[in-house]
Amino acid sequence: MSMFDYLIVGAGLYGSVFAREAALAGKKVKIIDIRSHVGGNIYTEEMEGINVHKYGAHIFHTNDKKVWDYIQQFAEFNRFTNSPMANYKGQLYNLPFNMNTFHQLWNVTTPDEAKTIIQTQQAEFGSSEPSNLEEQAISLVGKDIYEKLIKGYTEKQWGRPCNELPAFIINRLPVRFTYDNNYFNDKYQGIPIGGYTKIIEKMLDHPNIEIQLGTDYFSQKEQLNSEAKKVIYTGMIDQYFNYEYGHLEYRSLHFDTKVLDIENYQGNAVFNYTDSETPYTRIIEHKHFESGNQEKTVITYEYPVEWTPEKEPYYPINDKKNSELYRKYYQKAQSEQKTVFGGRLGLYQYFDMHQIIKVALQTFKKVIADN
Ligand code: FAD
Repeated sequence: MSMFDYLIVGAGLYGSVFAREAALAGKKVKIIDIRSHVGGNIYTEEMEGINVHKYGAHIFHTNDKKVWDYIQQFAEFNRFTNSPMANYKGQLYNLPFNMNTFHQLWNVTTPDEAKTIIQTQQAEFGSSEPSNLEEQAISLVGKDIYEKLIKGYTEKQWGRPCNELPAFIINRLPVRFTYDNNYFNDKYQGIPIGGYTKIIEKMLDHPNIEIQLGTDYFSQKEQLNSEAKKVIYTGMIDQYFNYEYGHLEYRSLHFDTKVLDIENYQGNAVFNYTDSETPYTRIIEHKHFESGNQEKTVITYEYPVEWTPEKEPYYPINDKKNSELYRKYYQKAQSEQKTVFGGRLGLYQYFDMHQIIKVALQTFKKVIADN
């Protein structure tokens, strides 16, 4: 007899939403994680009274009222608006590309002046089909924005020159002809007061849910499987199949976090370094996500790095080679009777948090209807 209806591998956002819904439906759930904490990549940890985003800065944003209402059950959100700054060789620019940026770049003051410059620079590229990311970016925003604000950042992110990267990585680059530094266009946006970890803890706080941390699924797969009727697996899909067809590839990140004995380091949560010489892409100053007035501050340098199997897999590389490889694993996954694959690693796809919540809720409905 199985003790649990569901074994959930991975206590990230996907696994936790699924666990919560299952528990509310009267199901017994065991959720495990290889890490020593819940939350997956949205985990925040308190340092010097500041909630530090340990696996990269996370800003919640969505247009979906249902998802927004859903997440509000677990935390109160502040009215944080993401308005990152770019530092290019010591010159500062507002992001996303808007009238403030155009004023800083060209000293123009009106939308018409900015449009004329961008259109002239776009025309310099000609009308042929862009064959790589560099051509694509110039055709969308012209060479000044590309060279100062896109080129270095993107090359660091992907570890390759822009003219060797496929054009599809950037299919649109929003350009705004208003003085509006709000990065996202979504209706709802904010940071949970008290951090993301509390959200996950609240989701998992239910008598039907048993949490087991520091547990690698593959070290006790048979035993864990025997305890549950169904497995919801949010780890890497290729690992599940023992890399039978080869490794799926990712980009990884290295985070270097420092406590500084000053109150305010950079005056903004996010600073992008868009030149190619600075080795990191961003500096995050965590206290600015929650308007903290702590005496010290905590900053994190974010370095994109080549992924190797012992590093954290952050961004799936959805190029032709990896997409074909994923397809094979996906097909194999369809014949697994007991296991449902979910989350960013199980589906080998980048998802924002609001998308993960939506997919987890939809999958839960389908899984429970099938049983
Ligand atoms: P994860 O959080 O990765 O959870 C999977 C869990 O499974 C992990 O805890 C892992 O330890 C566990 N696991 C894996 N293998 C095993 C195993 N063998 N045994 C046991 N446990 C295992 N989204 C936004 O909406 N806004 C943002 O600003 C934003 N910023 C981001 C910044 C970065 C740098 C990154 C990488 C992502 C960002 N995201 C953002 C996306 C967000 O992180 C994801 O939507 C979300 O974390 C996905 O949740 P998940 O549960 O699918 O995956």
